[in-house]
Amino acid sequence: MLIAINGTLTLSVGLVARAQLRDGMAFWAAGLACNTAGYVLFMLRGQISDVLSIVLANVFVASVYALFTEGVFQFQKRKPLRWLIWLPVLVTALLFAALIPWQAARMVVGSLIFSAQSAAIVVSLWQRRTSTVGVGQYFMVAGFLTMVVGFAIQLVGTLLRKDEVTSIMTPHLAQTVIYVVAAISVLLVSLGLVVMTKERADERNHNLAMRDELTGLINRRSLLESLAQHLSTAKRHGQPMALLMIDIDFFKRVNDTYGHLSGDKVLKALADVIAQRTRVQDQLGRLGGEEFLVILPNTTVDGAWQLAQTLRQSVAATPFQVMSGESIAVTVSVGLCAVSQFPDPQGDDLMGAADQALYRAKAAGRNRVEVFTPEPAVHPSQ
Ligand code: GH3
Ligand code: MG
Ligand code: MG
Repeated sequence: MLIAINGTLTLSVGLVARAQLRDGMAFWAAGLACNTAGYVLFMLRGQISDVLSIVLANVFVASVYALFTEGVFQFQKRKPLRWLIWLPVLVTALLFAALIPWQAARMVVGSLIFSAQSAAIVVSLWQRRTSTVGVGQYFMVAGFLTMVVGFAIQLVGTLLRKDEVTSIMTPHLAQTVIYVVAAISVLLVSLGLVVMTKERADERNHNLAMRDELTGLINRRSLLESLAQHLSTAKRHGQPMALLMIDIDFFKRVNDTYGHLSGDKVLKALADVIAQRTRVQDQLGRLGGEEFLVILPNTTVDGAWQLAQTLRQSVAATPFQVMSGESIAVTVSVGLCAVSQFPDPQGDDLMGAADQALYRAKAAGRNRVEVFTPEPAVHPSQ
């Protein structure tokens, strides 16, 4: 049964890994293949040489854990300590070669080495659980924890009744348990790796759909979603909220003078300058072209005005490097509006108002902040 289960999983995961070598997939497929090979050699115990069915078989088992550790580290984008991962494989080879005549001693040694390897995988997964999306990782944790428990049972069982265990096929409770545990574990681990990979792909697609590639900021679509959410929260709790629409001044000239690549570089650097000056709760995104939007929850017109001026001044004070290495000065104009300026504001009202204020900032000479006013009225002077 174990050979059938492992063989099927190896083929299935192997087929997927052919198309997708990244994210641990190739290591995990190789691990499942080693697991299958190990069981085949175990089954042939007595019919083939002991070196193959004892030493090589257990080297395969130790390699399963080494390969899975490699896969986990690749999935987590961590640099593995290669020698530490593969050392147990070498130790397994040496000890099992030395212990060929002693089945019980081998089971004790095997339990200790393999459970330590399983525990190391659990620890590696656990360390990065918060930075890994989804629940697939917990299936894998459960799978390797199951193995740790299984090996503990094997260890205790062997130590308590060591006379009875004479061969791998001896019908012994400890051995039966370890085989059942191995089946459960490989199913949990395989389910885990499939779900982990799927969740990783979903996260990538979501980022592609919601983020702007050039600046790394959220894009128009997610900005508008975020605006609707923040607006409904603000209205429900009667909190203030403000919006800044930021547009780079004479950006076409930057492109025309220094080229589009330089324009992209400036755009990205400018996005970084704004991002650094906003608070974590503020939502900054790229509306499109050289326009940005900042959603400011819990912020009054005065607060937003202060921040807008800070952003404007920071941009104006920052030298932006173009492709030639030369530094240029760039300025932005900012349109500001607030929820308090409307009796029952909708997202479109706020976007329109911020846009109108921005237009006025441009008309009034650029490199300035303008607050939305339903009709021309007095506003704080620059
Ligand atoms: P204004 O002060 O009135 O805003 O002048 P402007 O030149 O910035 O405004 P306009 O809307 O005429 O031009 C915007 C330019 O921004 C047009 C385009 O060349 C440039 N642009 C928009 N998106 C990108 C981009 O992703 N990369 C680069 N390099 N340029 C961009
Ligand atoms: Mg512009
Ligand atoms: Mg524009």
